[in-house]
Amino acid sequence: MRQSQRHLKVANLNFGRQRTRSTLPFGCAVERSKRKTLAVYIIQGKVVVRCPSRASTTQIAGFLNENKTWIEQRMVEESVRLKQALRVERGAKIFYRARELTIVFREGRKARILVDADKFIIQGHRLTPAKARLQLKEFLIDKASEYIIPRARGLAHYLGVDRKLKEIKLRKTKSKWGHCTSTGVIQYNYLIMLAPYSIIDYMITHEVCHMLHMDHSQRFWNLVDSLCPNSEHYVTWLKEHEHRFWI
Ligand SMILES: [Zn+2]
Repeated sequence: MRQSQRHLKVANLNFGRQRTRSTLPFGCAVERSKRKTLAVYIIQGKVVVRCPSRASTTQIAGFLNENKTWIEQRMVEESVRLKQALRVERGAKIFYRARELTIVFREGRKARILVDADKFIIQGHRLTPAKARLQLKEFLIDKASEYIIPRARGLAHYLGVDRKLKEIKLRKTKSKWGHCTSTGVIQYNYLIMLAPYSIIDYMITHEVCHMLHMDHSQRFWNLVDSLCPNSEHYVTWLKEHEHRFWI
């Protein structure tokens, strides 16, 4: 969910026409492949168009022009998001449990993390940003093992799918908060531990419900909603704030 996209079906491509090289708007990068449609993405602050291998520059420029307003809006949003991205540094902001806290590095033999009023204190010996990052990662994995695993197991038991749920893994994946397989493996991204508990509970519920319905059908959402009412609010909240959790 870190990418945004728009699709447009392209008919009647002008195969074999001479291609004039013009500078495309937005300094856009073009990726050609066997695909049949044009799509525009904003990836790490850059505009990328994916198009059929024979799409002409005119076609691409026209497509960009049609989507100009959307691209401009997304670029503004993206620059705000990039500024808000989590940096584990002294004095930086961390969005923890929906509160903006200031990261403080504290010298101490014992490595630990604690929250004190509006401070997110990372304590360790001769801390560097790299060390602090690693410490934060370990802190979140510990929290996830303590919180997510027993709750997911408990819910699986309640739903009568505890035998089906073979394993729960905690892993930072590229763009997903949770994932599950038909072989009964659920994976949670431990960075979700930065979010409020209501969001974490929603994620736990979502994946465990997949043990009964392996799709996003109405039956699946009805089950999620019976356990976690108003789940759409959590989905929206995550979409709006998830960029602040990635390290
Ligand atoms: Zn799902």
